[in-house]
Amino acid sequence: MSYIQFLGAAGVVTGSKHLIHVDSDGSRGLQVLVDCGMFQGQKEWRERNWQDLPVPPQSIDAVILTHAHIDHCGWIPRLVKQGFHGPIYATPATIDLCGILLPDSGHLQEEDAAFHNKFKTSKHEPALPLYTMEEAQQCLTLFRPVNFSELKQLSSQLSFRFVRAAHILGSAMAEIALTSNGKTSKLLFSGDIGRVRDNQIAPGKVVHSGPTEGEDCDLLVMESTYGNRQHPHTDPRPELAALIRTTVQRGGSVVVPSFAVERSQKFLFLLKELMETGQVPRVPVHGDSPMAIRAVEIFLKHSEEFTPETKALIEKYGSPLEWPNFHFDVTQDNSKKINDSKYPTIIVSSSGMVTGGRILHHLILRLPDPRNLVLFIGFQAPGTRGFTIKNGASEVKMFGQEVPIRAQVESLEQFSDHADTPELLEWLHTFRRPPKQTYLVHGEPPAASQLCEAMTRELRWNVQVAAYRQKVPLE
Ligand SMILES: [Zn+2]
Repeated sequence: MSYIQFLGAAGVVTGSKHLIHVDSDGSRGLQVLVDCGMFQGQKEWRERNWQDLPVPPQSIDAVILTHAHIDHCGWIPRLVKQGFHGPIYATPATIDLCGILLPDSGHLQEEDAAFHNKFKTSKHEPALPLYTMEEAQQCLTLFRPVNFSELKQLSSQLSFRFVRAAHILGSAMAEIALTSNGKTSKLLFSGDIGRVRDNQIAPGKVVHSGPTEGEDCDLLVMESTYGNRQHPHTDPRPELAALIRTTVQRGGSVVVPSFAVERSQKFLFLLKELMETGQVPRVPVHGDSPMAIRAVEIFLKHSEEFTPETKALIEKYGSPLEWPNFHFDVTQDNSKKINDSKYPTIIVSSSGMVTGGRILHHLILRLPDPRNLVLFIGFQAPGTRGFTIKNGASEVKMFGQEVPIRAQVESLEQFSDHADTPELLEWLHTFRRPPKQTYLVHGEPPAASQLCEAMTRELRWNVQVAAYRQKVPLE
């Protein structure tokens, strides 16, 4: 039997992994994994990173990767460590991003394991990393670039092409054509779907043009992160400027947890503009990440993907690496020096959901002081420290200690790279025909079920929320 099996991002927003198993005359023809993401957030989910897949990794022929967020690509080094040795297909920008994000992820895994071993805080002795930085580096040789719209034939039974998802740099949806028993069916895996329109409603958006319209498929596997939400339609810049001014006036610093590549750089351009126009005081700005400089270079390299607004900003201000008063802290020593600074500073650091990385050190120092501001500009998955801080907790655990939260905490939802419910419905209305079946993945249960209801009511499509490890037979 040919089938799809949901091996992650079912009932949760992380761990995206969908297996396509194709039979050929009774024998196994082909197995492909669409995305290979890490589970993040609650322990119950994270423990799934240690479970084996239901099929041997060496029996998987290829991975098709939609984009470079860790919840979509972060399990690849583990898959390779367990014996997968096939090609990993992704767009050139996604490959560039994975080139810095996956080794960094391995580095964080190693740091975590070392911490647990030092303080004996794990039930495993010794605590091990899911994979190391070196293992993550080695798996990069398996990546193969596929440009948008290029048709890639994997076997006589399966071909695919990437179309734009407009979510982050390089992000794609995978259109897959599958031939079995003389019949071809079309599958569409949405990956994460970006904002549908450009500047008016999403001033923080980097990539252009919205997701590809006029899709046509038999089976749709679609994300539902914001399946029960609507983003604010106001320009975030005046609000952002006011928040920074007030913080600086009271002698505090601003800490912004942010995805290391793209989101951080776009935020820096907005800051630069606010400073140049006198809306924000010229305090020192730190892009604090071990990959800060490469992140800026990758960002600037892929200008073909930008909105006209982003292009104009880059043309006007050039490379952030050359701006006075903007510092890119690559080494641990640079990073520590930020803490010696007595003056208000703005620190942009990763990880964006505070699951690890240098942001932890900045928050441990600054969360207890009410003069400071912690500003969220991205999605916070339940169970992550970012979610805890954002939702008004009085303390949060970092490196085994409870850190009191007295700093001001704010979030600007306008920066979201995910379409909200009205935008998702608007995009679905452009489909040329209703898919025979739609499965919703990558959403918390309330978001997925409300989107399911809205799609059933408004479009009259056949929609279900996918369940973990559920197998869907393919005709
Ligand atoms: Zn994503």
